[in-house]
Amino acid sequence: MLQDLLSLLFPEICYACAAPMARGEKYICTECSVKLPYTDAHVHGATELNTLQQRFWGKVPVRYAFSYLYFRPKGRVQRLLHQLKYKGAHELGEHLGRRYGSLLSDHQYGQQFDLILPVPLHHAKLRRRGYNQSDSFAKGLADAMNLEWNSRILVRNIDTETQTKKSRLDRWQNVEKVFAVKMPEKVKGKRVLLVDDVLTTGATLEACIQSLLDSGCSEVSVATIATAEK
Ligand SMILES: [Zn+2]
Repeated sequence: MLQDLLSLLFPEICYACAAPMARGEKYICTECSVKLPYTDAHVHGATELNTLQQRFWGKVPVRYAFSYLYFRPKGRVQRLLHQLKYKGAHELGEHLGRRYGSLLSDHQYGQQFDLILPVPLHHAKLRRRGYNQSDSFAKGLADAMNLEWNSRILVRNIDTETQTKKSRLDRWQNVEKVFAVKMPEKVKGKRVLLVDDVLTTGATLEACIQSLLDSGCSEVSVATIATAEK
């Protein structure tokens, strides 16, 4: 009774469209859940129809490349990512991870990975923000797929956002030293699912993948919350 009254007075707001939600809805309203621009990357798997895969061609070997949603300027996904990144909605990250993890499990991908690792933030940035949005998504994925995840294996040595004024080439030379694998024995021979919030050029993921492969993991796949449409 009291709960009904409270939810009437202070309804939860949808993270994707900011509309008040009905009772029983959580994080994302039913209309947004239906209308979100889902990719079909998981349907295409590692075939040539998976265009996300192509962003890594000629750079680093990637077993599978998945993104849950398409990013469109001013759209629902942009609002979701903004909430996730700047408004402290890490529960939203886990929620999206669980939803996508269930979908991937339904398509038999649960057996394709041994370990889930998030792309790390620099420790100073992690302290400022309080949480890593990619880690929240990774945790949700791991829960739904019943897989191990670890946010301490892959570390970021350099805060790349302080490097943006340098030339592109300089940045690239830096990026190779940005990431390190702290406990290589934990990735050796493993099939790693590397998780980030957004897939753009893939340069950050590429640097992580190279570090992981250099440390002896057997193959790397990629999953992100969102990607730009080509
Ligand atoms: Zn909504």
